[in-house]
Amino acid sequence: MSKDDPQNRKAAPRSNERYGRWTLALGFRLAATLCGLLPFGLRAGLSPTETKIVATVDALVGEFPHDLERAVLINSATENLTGVREVANLFASQLSALGFASRFAELPASTGRAGHLVAMRQGTRGKRVLLIGHLDTVLPGGSYRREGDRALGSGTSDIKGGDLILLYALRALYTAGALDDTQITVVMTGDEEAVGRPIELARAELMTAAKNSDLALSFEGAIGQTATVARRGSMSWEVEVQGATGHSSGIFSAAMGAGAVYEAARILTAFYELRRMDGLTLNPALIVGGTESALTSTGGTVSGKGNITAQTARLRGDLRTVSAEQLAEAQTKMRTIVAQSLPRTSAKITFSEGYPAMPDSMGNRALLAELDTASRDLGFGPITAYDPRSRGAGDVAFVSPPLPAIDGLGIRGGGAHAPNEWADLATAPELVKRTAVLIYRLTHQRVE
Ligand SMILES: [Zn+2]
Repeated sequence: MSKDDPQNRKAAPRSNERYGRWTLALGFRLAATLCGLLPFGLRAGLSPTETKIVATVDALVGEFPHDLERAVLINSATENLTGVREVANLFASQLSALGFASRFAELPASTGRAGHLVAMRQGTRGKRVLLIGHLDTVLPGGSYRREGDRALGSGTSDIKGGDLILLYALRALYTAGALDDTQITVVMTGDEEAVGRPIELARAELMTAAKNSDLALSFEGAIGQTATVARRGSMSWEVEVQGATGHSSGIFSAAMGAGAVYEAARILTAFYELRRMDGLTLNPALIVGGTESALTSTGGTVSGKGNITAQTARLRGDLRTVSAEQLAEAQTKMRTIVAQSLPRTSAKITFSEGYPAMPDSMGNRALLAELDTASRDLGFGPITAYDPRSRGAGDVAFVSPPLPAIDGLGIRGGGAHAPNEWADLATAPELVKRTAVLIYRLTHQRVE
């Protein structure tokens, strides 16, 4: 924040105009910095309150490994609704102690998902900040072990370690008296790894929290000295092909046409050309074709003979795109391709509900610049933008747009969604300090 950009909402009402000015101001500062007009070094340094926050982190963070162990020992795979609620209770009690009003927002049983932890502090100072984590893990958890600074177990880095970076930053701010009159909402979803359906219902709480916030910070795993300003959206698709069938000797004839398998091949060959769309990936994952075929959730069945022309073929895969516009363009092209059938065949494509993309934006870059400045001021070095092509979909995309947001503020580690998942405990103090100073600056006008 610059000193002449008042952050007190009492003086400046919340409005799109005001948000626009803020984004523009930060965007300008980023541009000026990149041009070397305003070296971060000249702005370096922590305010007395920030120095106190850092000291508070040092005093608290010794308990981090113990708290991570407690959280990871709870098995909270997405489908384990009891475990998800138990993690929510654990974190809710910690947030309540910091003056947050915490509740568990149940999802209807029909969704097969538990619900979300929602916690809020209401105030009038600075930016209204939304902090995003999640309670669930991909693989069943419940075991935890240490190898030096490595904590191993399901959820260590995705995302309970990240949830604790968020919680420890808030604890340090609270202890330093820096949460007073701030407005911060914490949403930890219970189904980030396998979102409940319909998605509109499963993400209603998160979207409501976004409406009451000015920006969002998300705590998926940190990757080196980077943060995420853009994530691709993902969606699955299925193609069903029908053809005429009979003795194989009739293929290519007017009566038999091309058969379903050739039609499937034609569709895939045309899909392959979509790789020219910048940042898009289109992955056919499963294919079956023959006299009879069917796809299950993780496989398929097929029957047929070499001397019979294939009557059916089915394909399934996913589509990842950098923006809603690119998604719409890709879907139009895929529908057009599918509609251009070979002789005596027909095909249809269906798209499932998916995760939206989080497109790169000036607001996201402005937040990255804030994080970068905080990191440099703390002596932890610069933070750059992570390549969005290498990052999967995430909850933050449901709120950005419209909110400016960054992700990747969680703990460093590896092996996410795999049995050898781990977190690097040695990185926790630095990451907690970075987040605490960032939240402090966003919720306060900097006074040196
Ligand atoms: Zn995650």
